Amino acid sequence: MKDINWGELSFGYFKTDYNVRCYCKDGKWGDLDMSDSEFFPMHIASTCMHYGQEVFEGLKVFRGIDGKVRMFRCQENAKRMKDSAEYIMMQAPPVELFVRAVKKAVEWNQEYIPPYESGASLYVRPLLIGIGPQLGVAPSTEYMFVVFVSPVGPYFKEGFKPVKTMLERVFDRAAPCGTGHIKVGGNYAAGMRSGEKAHHKGFSMSIFLDAKEKKYIDECGPANFFGIKNNTYVTPSASTILPSVTNASLMVLAEDMGLKVERRQIPVEELSTFEEIGACGTAAVISPIGSIEDSATGQTIVVGDPTVAGKWSTKLYNRLRGIQYGEEEDKFGWNEIL
Ligand SMILES: *Cc1c(COP(=O)(O)O)cnc(C)c1O
Repeated sequence: MKDINWGELSFGYFKTDYNVRCYCKDGKWGDLDMSDSEFFPMHIASTCMHYGQEVFEGLKVFRGIDGKVRMFRCQENAKRMKDSAEYIMMQAPPVELFVRAVKKAVEWNQEYIPPYESGASLYVRPLLIGIGPQLGVAPSTEYMFVVFVSPVGPYFKEGFKPVKTMLERVFDRAAPCGTGHIKVGGNYAAGMRSGEKAHHKGFSMSIFLDAKEKKYIDECGPANFFGIKNNTYVTPSASTILPSVTNASLMVLAEDMGLKVERRQIPVEELSTFEEIGACGTAAVISPIGSIEDSATGQTIVVGDPTVAGKWSTKLYNRLRGIQYGEEEDKFGWNEIL
């Protein structure tokens, strides 16, 4: 294992030794190449640079309590990248190739998988870009698939605590029949103005509304939204929302714990009725939300006790993390031991 101060790691880029690359030309994928460079040369007219042909993924690998290395639901990420790529007319790596590339990237950098005790993990970032030149708007005929890894620290260094958020009333992240449901960089660009506005005001993230009616909760920038009340886990359902693997897993666990699960529209007015609210995604699993300030009126909704994570959020968080670190039975077969 590398000599790294694992406990001090944050969620940021950390250089490792190797990355995996694979090229596709005219629909045919080549072999997986090993690279020790953090850079690649690119054509000045490549479609990823000019017309946004870029999709990515994010998943984690954990060193468990028993010393074994576990990869969490990689197939789901592989399928999602395929869906994302195909929607914006890109060639997607087949699921089998995706999984093989992720495993290679982990294997070649296994010294960077943090020790169990640190609470850190190895984040895997698969990236697919159009690299062929086009000046007229058209899909590229050449693609590059890259997988790199980065050790990332425990998300909650000061403990699992609720954050303050802002309800975005002005800007939209994704259009109803647009690209909100796929993992493309462009969605993040669209959300950055609001995200920075929120950060400047001291909030950890903004919560977006549906772009059409501005009535329903959509997503929290880079994470799905959920609320819990009356023993029910509620999460929005809309064509603009990215199908989060974490959220899908939490829904299964919620049901397993005896909660009802509802996927439906959540009107803004309903926010104040939730006992617990959270954002969920691979990076943090769950970020409990303690308050939501309306960016139009300045009014604040306080959720439960805003200084302590709710009972169900804490249970769900501990259960999912427990499965990922091999502390709890992997009842649903989500881990692959590497
Ligand atoms: C990646 C992502 C999420 C979280 O998905 P996970 O699979 O749980 O990591 C949520 N929302 C958006 C917009 C995303 O891009």
